[in-house]
Amino acid sequence: TALAELLSSRIRDVPDYPKPGVLFKDIAPLLADAEAFAALTTALAGRAGELGATKVVGLEARGFVLAAPAAFAAGLGFVPIRKKGKLPGEVFEQSYDLEYGSATLEVQCDAFEPGEKVLVVDDVLATGGTIAASLDLVRRTGAQLVGVVVLMELGLLGGRDRLSTHLDGAPLETL
Ligand code: 5GP
Repeated sequence: TALAELLSSRIRDVPDYPKPGVLFKDIAPLLADAEAFAALTTALAGRAGELGATKVVGLEARGFVLAAPAAFAAGLGFVPIRKKGKLPGEVFEQSYDLEYGSATLEVQCDAFEPGEKVLVVDDVLATGGTIAASLDLVRRTGAQLVGVVVLMELGLLGGRDRLSTHLDGAPLETL
Protein backbone atom coordinates (compact mmCIF):
# COMPACT_ATOMS: atom_id res chain seq x y z
CA THR A 1 0.00 0.00 0.00
CA ALA A 2 0.97 3.66 -0.31
CA LEU A 3 1.07 3.94 3.49
CA ALA A 4 3.40 0.95 3.84
CA GLU A 5 5.69 2.37 1.15
CA LEU A 6 5.80 5.79 2.82
CA LEU A 7 6.56 4.27 6.23
CA SER A 8 9.15 1.82 4.87
CA SER A 9 10.93 4.61 3.05
CA ARG A 10 11.47 6.44 6.37
CA ILE A 11 12.91 3.49 8.32
CA ARG A 12 16.69 3.22 8.31
CA ASP A 13 18.66 -0.04 8.56
CA VAL A 14 21.59 0.27 10.96
CA PRO A 15 23.99 -2.70 10.78
CA ASP A 16 25.68 -4.04 13.92
CA TYR A 17 23.54 -2.05 16.38
CA PRO A 18 23.24 -2.42 19.34
CA LYS A 19 25.76 -5.22 18.85
CA PRO A 20 27.59 -7.02 16.01
CA GLY A 21 25.35 -9.09 13.75
CA VAL A 22 22.13 -7.23 14.55
CA LEU A 23 20.44 -5.16 11.82
CA PHE A 24 18.58 -2.44 13.75
CA LYS A 25 15.50 -0.79 12.27
CA ASP A 26 15.79 2.90 13.19
CA ILE A 27 12.47 4.77 13.23
CA ALA A 28 13.99 8.19 13.99
CA PRO A 29 13.73 9.35 10.34
CA LEU A 30 10.03 8.41 10.31
CA LEU A 31 9.29 10.30 13.54
CA ALA A 32 11.19 13.34 12.21
CA ASP A 33 9.18 13.43 8.98
CA ALA A 34 5.93 15.32 9.57
CA GLU A 35 4.05 13.64 6.71
CA ALA A 36 5.08 10.09 7.62
CA PHE A 37 4.51 10.59 11.35
CA ALA A 38 1.06 12.05 10.69
CA ALA A 39 0.18 9.17 8.35
CA LEU A 40 1.31 6.64 10.97
CA THR A 41 -0.64 8.40 13.72
CA THR A 42 -3.78 8.62 11.57
CA ALA A 43 -3.55 4.92 10.67
CA LEU A 44 -3.13 3.85 14.29
CA ALA A 45 -5.97 6.10 15.44
CA GLY A 46 -8.18 4.73 12.68
CA ARG A 47 -7.58 1.16 13.76
CA ALA A 48 -8.25 2.08 17.39
CA GLY A 49 -11.63 3.42 16.34
CA GLU A 50 -12.48 0.52 14.03
CA LEU A 51 -11.57 -2.04 16.68
CA GLY A 52 -13.71 -0.28 19.27
CA ALA A 53 -10.85 0.47 21.64
CA THR A 54 -11.48 2.62 24.71
CA LYS A 55 -7.78 2.93 25.62
CA VAL A 56 -4.52 2.81 23.64
CA VAL A 57 -1.62 1.11 25.43
CA GLY A 58 1.99 1.97 24.51
CA LEU A 59 5.05 -0.09 25.44
CA GLU A 60 8.11 1.74 26.78
CA ALA A 61 9.76 3.56 25.15
CA ARG A 62 9.19 3.82 21.39
CA GLY A 63 5.66 2.48 21.81
CA PHE A 64 4.85 5.62 23.84
CA VAL A 65 5.84 7.83 20.92
CA LEU A 66 3.43 6.00 18.60
CA ALA A 67 0.56 5.24 20.96
CA ALA A 68 0.14 8.60 22.71
CA PRO A 69 -0.56 10.73 19.61
CA ALA A 70 -2.74 7.94 18.21
CA ALA A 71 -4.80 7.93 21.41
CA PHE A 72 -5.19 11.72 21.16
CA ALA A 73 -6.19 11.55 17.50
CA ALA A 74 -8.76 8.84 18.27
CA GLY A 75 -10.17 10.77 21.20
CA LEU A 76 -9.04 8.06 23.63
CA GLY A 77 -6.90 7.84 26.76
CA PHE A 78 -3.38 6.46 26.83
CA VAL A 79 -1.95 3.87 29.24
CA PRO A 80 1.78 3.08 29.56
CA ILE A 81 3.30 -0.35 30.13
CA ARG A 82 6.67 0.40 31.67
CA LYS A 83 9.89 -1.28 32.65
CA LYS A 84 10.07 -2.40 36.27
CA GLY A 85 10.23 0.23 38.99
CA LYS A 86 8.91 3.25 37.03
CA LEU A 87 5.20 3.23 37.98
CA PRO A 88 3.91 4.28 41.42
CA GLY A 89 1.28 2.43 43.40
CA GLU A 90 0.03 -1.12 42.95
CA VAL A 91 1.27 -2.79 39.77
CA PHE A 92 1.06 -6.12 38.04
CA GLU A 93 4.46 -7.32 36.85
CA GLN A 94 5.45 -9.83 34.19
CA SER A 95 8.95 -11.07 33.43
CA TYR A 96 10.10 -12.45 30.11
CA ASP A 97 13.31 -13.91 28.73
CA LEU A 98 15.76 -11.93 26.67
CA GLU A 99 18.64 -13.37 24.67
CA TYR A 100 20.77 -12.81 27.78
CA GLY A 101 18.91 -12.60 31.08
CA SER A 102 15.38 -11.33 31.51
CA ALA A 103 13.30 -8.16 31.72
CA THR A 104 10.22 -7.19 33.68
CA LEU A 105 7.30 -5.00 32.57
CA GLU A 106 4.62 -3.43 34.75
CA VAL A 107 1.16 -1.89 34.46
CA GLN A 108 -0.80 -0.08 37.16
CA CYS A 109 -3.50 -2.33 38.60
CA ASP A 110 -6.12 0.44 38.28
CA ALA A 111 -5.10 1.52 34.75
CA PHE A 112 -8.48 0.53 33.29
CA GLU A 113 -12.12 0.86 34.30
CA PRO A 114 -14.25 -2.30 34.23
CA GLY A 115 -15.18 -3.31 30.68
CA GLU A 116 -12.50 -1.35 28.87
CA LYS A 117 -11.26 -2.46 25.44
CA VAL A 118 -7.55 -2.14 24.81
CA LEU A 119 -5.44 -1.66 21.69
CA VAL A 120 -1.72 -2.42 22.27
CA VAL A 121 0.80 -0.49 20.14
CA ASP A 122 4.56 -0.91 19.72
CA ASP A 123 7.10 -0.11 17.04
CA VAL A 124 8.67 -3.50 16.34
CA LEU A 125 7.59 -7.12 16.77
CA ALA A 126 10.80 -9.16 16.91
CA THR A 127 10.76 -12.35 19.04
CA GLY A 128 7.42 -11.35 20.54
CA GLY A 129 8.59 -11.48 24.16
CA THR A 130 7.76 -7.83 24.88
CA ILE A 131 4.24 -7.98 23.47
CA ALA A 132 3.53 -11.41 24.99
CA ALA A 133 4.38 -10.10 28.45
CA SER A 134 2.31 -6.96 27.81
CA LEU A 135 -0.74 -8.97 26.77
CA ASP A 136 -0.46 -11.03 29.93
CA LEU A 137 -0.42 -7.78 31.94
CA VAL A 138 -3.49 -6.41 30.15
CA ARG A 139 -5.36 -9.65 30.85
CA ARG A 140 -4.54 -9.47 34.55
CA THR A 141 -6.08 -5.97 34.81
CA GLY A 142 -9.36 -7.45 33.60
CA ALA A 143 -9.48 -5.31 30.46
CA GLN A 144 -10.37 -6.84 27.10
CA LEU A 145 -7.76 -6.93 24.35
CA VAL A 146 -9.24 -5.83 20.99
CA GLY A 147 -6.04 -5.79 18.96
CA VAL A 148 -2.30 -5.34 18.62
CA VAL A 149 -0.84 -3.02 15.99
CA VAL A 150 2.88 -2.70 15.31
CA LEU A 151 4.68 -0.51 12.83
CA MET A 152 6.80 -3.40 11.61
CA GLU A 153 7.30 -7.11 12.10
CA LEU A 154 10.68 -8.81 11.76
CA GLY A 155 9.09 -11.88 10.24
CA LEU A 156 11.93 -14.37 10.58
CA LEU A 157 12.08 -14.17 14.38
CA GLY A 158 8.83 -16.03 15.00
CA GLY A 159 7.06 -13.33 16.99
CA ARG A 160 3.68 -13.86 15.33
CA ASP A 161 3.73 -17.59 16.16
CA ARG A 162 4.77 -16.90 19.74
CA LEU A 163 1.91 -14.44 20.21
CA SER A 164 -0.80 -16.71 18.82
CA THR A 165 -1.45 -18.21 22.26
CA HIS A 166 -1.62 -14.75 23.91
CA LEU A 167 -4.04 -12.98 21.57
CA ASP A 168 -7.34 -14.69 22.54
CA GLY A 169 -8.51 -14.22 18.96
CA ALA A 170 -7.67 -10.50 18.77
CA PRO A 171 -6.00 -9.39 15.51
CA LEU A 172 -2.27 -8.74 15.22
CA GLU A 173 -1.64 -6.15 12.49
CA THR A 174 1.48 -4.69 10.92
CA LEU A 175 1.45 -1.31 9.19
P1 5GP B 1 10.85 -8.58 21.03
O1 5GP B 1 10.44 -8.57 22.47
O2 5GP B 1 9.69 -8.80 20.11
O3 5GP B 1 11.99 -9.50 20.75
O4 5GP B 1 11.47 -7.14 20.72
C1 5GP B 1 10.63 -6.06 20.49
C2 5GP B 1 11.04 -4.88 21.31
O5 5GP B 1 12.41 -4.59 21.10
C3 5GP B 1 10.24 -3.67 20.91
O6 5GP B 1 9.79 -2.97 22.07
C4 5GP B 1 11.20 -2.83 20.08
O7 5GP B 1 11.13 -1.46 20.44
C5 5GP B 1 12.57 -3.39 20.36
N1 5GP B 1 13.29 -3.74 19.11
C6 5GP B 1 13.81 -4.94 18.77
N2 5GP B 1 14.45 -4.88 17.59
C7 5GP B 1 14.29 -3.61 17.16
C8 5GP B 1 14.71 -2.91 15.96
O8 5GP B 1 15.36 -3.42 15.05
N3 5GP B 1 14.34 -1.59 15.87
C9 5GP B 1 13.62 -0.98 16.85
N4 5GP B 1 13.28 0.31 16.66
N5 5GP B 1 13.24 -1.60 17.97
C10 5GP B 1 13.56 -2.90 18.12
